[in-house]
Amino acid sequence: MSVELTSIIDISNETQKEHYPEIRPNAHRSSATPTRQTWTIEDSEKLYRIQGWGEPYFSINAAGHVTVSPKGDRGGSLDLLELVEALRKRNLGLPLLIRFSDILADRIERLNACFAKAIARYKYPGTYQGVYPVKCNQQRHLVEDLVRFGEPYQFGLEAGSKPELTIALATLKTPNSLLICNGYKDREYIETALLATRLGHRPLIVLEQVEEVQLVIDVAAQLAIEPVVGVRAKLSTKGTGRWGTSTGDRAKFGLTIPEILTCVELLRNAGMLNSLQLLHFHIGSQISAISVIKDAIREASQIYVELRALGANMQYLDVGGGLAIDYDGSKTNFHASKNYNMQNYANDIVAEVKEACEARQLPVPTLISESGRAIASHQSVLIFDVLSTSNVLSKEPEPVQEREHLIIRNLWETYRTINIENYQEAYHDAIQFNEEAKSLFSLGYLSLIQRARAEQLYWACCDRILKLVRTQDYVPDDLEDLEKIMASIYYVNLSVFQSVPDSWAINQLFPIMPIHRLNEEPTCRGILADLTCDSDGKIDQFIDLRDVKSVLELHPLRERRSISASIPHSSNQEPYYLGLFLAGAYQEIMGNLHNLFGDINAVHIQLTPRGYEIEHVVKGDTVTEVLGYVQYDAEDLVESIRRRTEQALQDNHITLEESQRLLKNYEQSLSSYTYLSS
Ligand SMILES: *Cc1c(COP(=O)(O)O)cnc(C)c1O
Repeated sequence: MSVELTSIIDISNETQKEHYPEIRPNAHRSSATPTRQTWTIEDSEKLYRIQGWGEPYFSINAAGHVTVSPKGDRGGSLDLLELVEALRKRNLGLPLLIRFSDILADRIERLNACFAKAIARYKYPGTYQGVYPVKCNQQRHLVEDLVRFGEPYQFGLEAGSKPELTIALATLKTPNSLLICNGYKDREYIETALLATRLGHRPLIVLEQVEEVQLVIDVAAQLAIEPVVGVRAKLSTKGTGRWGTSTGDRAKFGLTIPEILTCVELLRNAGMLNSLQLLHFHIGSQISAISVIKDAIREASQIYVELRALGANMQYLDVGGGLAIDYDGSKTNFHASKNYNMQNYANDIVAEVKEACEARQLPVPTLISESGRAIASHQSVLIFDVLSTSNVLSKEPEPVQEREHLIIRNLWETYRTINIENYQEAYHDAIQFNEEAKSLFSLGYLSLIQRARAEQLYWACCDRILKLVRTQDYVPDDLEDLEKIMASIYYVNLSVFQSVPDSWAINQLFPIMPIHRLNEEPTCRGILADLTCDSDGKIDQFIDLRDVKSVLELHPLRERRSISASIPHSSNQEPYYLGLFLAGAYQEIMGNLHNLFGDINAVHIQLTPRGYEIEHVVKGDTVTEVLGYVQYDAEDLVESIRRRTEQALQDNHITLEESQRLLKNYEQSLSSYTYLSS
């Protein structure tokens, strides 16, 4: 739908282009209105789109702080800034991951409520029984919470590997909940899964490869345990977006239709066709278009009824994951969004399956879904602080003197005369003069000081032009990058590689915003640069209503007003905290140790009638721990430094005080957090 609409707009633009070749709708224009007298929290709500992606869990209070309502609409909320400061007082350094267990509970409840509603609405004569795919976030406290919160719904777990199976077997205690066994399997995996039946588990072994059939037949015969087997189908339905290639004939996973028939034959020949009870598919994650989901369900429903017709004892249809999250709040089929809600999703699944079964007069299956992202994303908030900023333009330029170089006088003249009529022309002039200044410098005609002066004037021109551009509804093409060129760099206490790997790896968008000062206009535009010495360690794409924006509206850093002695700090700058939201799925486990920035501190927060309670504190890595991952032993390191210090002392290259200080610092670093303390 939206694709068609855009193309219609494009065509109409095409016809206009003859008259206004360089004018086009300004998609990147900031939604902040700099001309407004007073900035309100409503302006911040709109700017950061918090209702779009945050409802019902995140909003802004009158103090201009982000608030969290972990139970959604059912009341109880807390001030995120106050929480962060309280946690810092407990010596929990930033970056910090805050998990709200009540949000997790709410997500599970919501998903089950949506399916219950759909089942009632369509009079589906069967049930829904979801599972949580452990790979989405394997942290122990989270999986344990999930099992606990899922108990009323007999919510189960899905394992995609032997280590995940190990977690699932020990953690899942809910009677009658399902244990979906996915992933590539060896004999040990299958044996373990089957033996788990003896502990009261209900393992469903999903065949991902034809080779696994014989293995299951053999192990089942050997253990004399009747398995419940499923097949994972490779659907022909094409996915969309980043994970679009998870389906189709060349997909990595699943069995083609001929392979499924081979499995049926092998099981039939072994007298085990009764064991084949489940059809599974997974068309990829973050499916942003409901039409794709519908197509997949329709195709899968047909495979399901056909398998039943072939004599398999079909009981379950497992629709996998893919239920998307609206990261940008635009409610579109953009990759960071979705054009449907959870209820639409449940409705379509229930209705399609019912229709397919009714058409063949077959009993309906128990419906299973494996939503990871949709369950785990909202509960984690990543909080980090800004260490410093850098701007291309540090101060307004001094007026030019008579005797200054011509190029500098030209730049000054350009700067002085910029107005709403000529800014586009002035921009090109400024670029040209700046280029000339650089050439003159390279040829030895301009001193370093003169070059600095020219550059400063150039940035001053750009700054003035940008301010005019921002007041316009239409931005000429050639000025579109100006916002990006002029962006400040906000240096943040974070490793993108450790804490937001998908932002680096696949350009995934996450909502990011300050968690305080939201009653104050964010007058700066910036990108975020992380602590690593890697040019990729940055975030320069941010959510927007249309497409993405290349800069984020942020506040200038300011001096510390009241020194709070109980929060450890080393600068006299007031902390500026940013939150990255919807971070609970996939990021933690995919994070890596680039530059040896380790796991970050994490806390689990639960609402209580009187406020909140810190359920668990999971301390992040110390330097000693990350060094251990790369096989360095802290004691050996200290010993080696101690010996060298001793030698330097004997050679009179270091004083006793210096040596003591060096060793003290060295040892302290080893036991400290890998991030900076501000
Ligand atoms: C990853 C995965 C999921 C979870 O997908 P989400 O999009 O996070 O819900 C479910 N099932 C299987 C088989 C998976 O591999």
